[in-house]
Amino acid sequence: MASKTPPKQRQNVYEIAQAQLQRAADVIRLEDRLHMILSQPKNELIINFPVRMDDGNYRLFKGYRIQHNDIMGPYKGGIRFHPEVHLDEVKALAAWMTWKCAVMEIPFGGAKGGVKFDPRSTSPAELERITRRFTHALGDNIGPNYDIPAPDMGTNAQTMVWMMDTYMNRGPSRDKNAQRAVVTGKSITSGGSQGREKATGQGVVYAIEEWATENDFSLDGATFSVQGFGNVGSHAAAILSRMGASMIAVQDHTGALVNREGIHPKRLARHVAETGGVAGYKGAEPVDKATFFGTEVDIFIPAALESQITADTAPLMRCKLVVEGANGPTDLEGEAILQDKGVQILPDVLANAGGVTVSYFEWLQNRRAESWTLEEVDARLHAMMVRAYRTVRRVAREHGIDNRTAAYVHSLQRIQEVYRERGIFP
Ligand code: GLU
Repeated sequence: MASKTPPKQRQNVYEIAQAQLQRAADVIRLEDRLHMILSQPKNELIINFPVRMDDGNYRLFKGYRIQHNDIMGPYKGGIRFHPEVHLDEVKALAAWMTWKCAVMEIPFGGAKGGVKFDPRSTSPAELERITRRFTHALGDNIGPNYDIPAPDMGTNAQTMVWMMDTYMNRGPSRDKNAQRAVVTGKSITSGGSQGREKATGQGVVYAIEEWATENDFSLDGATFSVQGFGNVGSHAAAILSRMGASMIAVQDHTGALVNREGIHPKRLARHVAETGGVAGYKGAEPVDKATFFGTEVDIFIPAALESQITADTAPLMRCKLVVEGANGPTDLEGEAILQDKGVQILPDVLANAGGVTVSYFEWLQNRRAESWTLEEVDARLHAMMVRAYRTVRRVAREHGIDNRTAAYVHSLQRIQEVYRERGIFP
């Protein structure tokens, strides 16, 4: 692959999602009408909304909410604040939520939202106004029984509390408290769940544990790399390290680091909280991107943006297992290269489903006015991750297909059954 041609243009992420769907549809001979329905979201909402900035000027923001499918339950999925948010990305992310909830057997459909801006370059007051104005503009397009947002890249518990508060204050005060479940991923004090913050990272680790058991592999003494040291990457790294595995390499938008002796996740997380990124951390050597991807480890955890494992980076990678903490981190060419090398993949719709699973628990707790202990949340999450992992692996073996296609097959079979029962109105 040492050709001199310039790096190819990145494949459109929605086309990647469509190709993944096509592969699974071929395996189960998905009904054509259903394939047609699922290949586009039900609703695509784009809102341009003005916000007053701290300097007194107004700026127009572009926000999206894409509702892919709600046959299995209310639309569900995160809201992303990122300068590269665009329609096809949010459409792909919304479809992935449909498959993810169906793989996990959670009674939700799939949606995703985003606002195109850089949250790192806005003040907290501006962030609050952007969030509230966007929520206000979404109006009745979200709701606890209809479409339930959650955090994603660039958003967090504070963002969700602002969304909840804005949404609650639209209606009569007697109904206010019934609206808490309009978003998940809230702070515990405002109605969030124990274990939600670390849930995606925790789920990643539960999936890895199942893989380790299946492959007779010891995590004690294992090595791993993490790409993206945000909520998902930092929690997965901390939990894996407590199990005796060591993080050898890490990369984020500020740089990449390697230390063969292991990088301390908690210390690195403190550095990131103080400085905004991994660059400059003293406990490891700075390296370039190619060295990061080429560092030999047992497990590689992409936990950043889409399309990171590609025809450019996959040839460099030396690992046994890729666990997709991010959504869509592996493009079609990257995936084919990993498969040729015999690298196993735990796909996003399974591996990172811990977040939406604990979101479901939060939604249940809000509706029942309960609060579960961390032990209870973790135990239920564990049981659901194990069940989903084993189902995906069984389907993969039965059909002789890869794990991603198997996860899609399981999702699509469940969705197809419901469409068959309910028919298409009128
Ligand atoms: N944004 C997360 C995801 O991509 C969580 C979604 C949710 O909790 O609804 O799965």
